[in-house]
Amino acid sequence: MPKRYCMNLFGSIWARDTSWIDTFVINHERIHTAQMKELLFIPFYVWYLIEWLIRLLQYRNWNKAYRNISFEREAYSNDHNLSYLPNRRPFSSLKYLKINNVRKHAPHAPHFDKN
Ligand SMILES: [Zn+2]
Repeated sequence: MPKRYCMNLFGSIWARDTSWIDTFVINHERIHTAQMKELLFIPFYVWYLIEWLIRLLQYRNWNKAYRNISFEREAYSNDHNLSYLPNRRPFSSLKYLKINNVRKHAPHAPHFDKN
């Protein structure tokens, strides 16, 4: 498992090395927890996996495919905004299926390709 790897299993955050985990990583994972809750957990993982496979066909790159899953697009776009989650509307991930609203100058903003 890579050092900077973190996994959210049903709302619990798991990491081998926690030294790099900061408020923004926790915020990122909390966004995923909100996504999971509204999809009642199991459907979240099914959707996540299917969308990853579709993105893999689209981008032909593991990392790019992962970064462009709508759940990840929402989380990476908003993890540095600590007031995002309290004001988030349900099913906001749907907006990220088709993207154009990514923060451009975020410290670690993913590099999205326009569809
Ligand atoms: Zn994530």
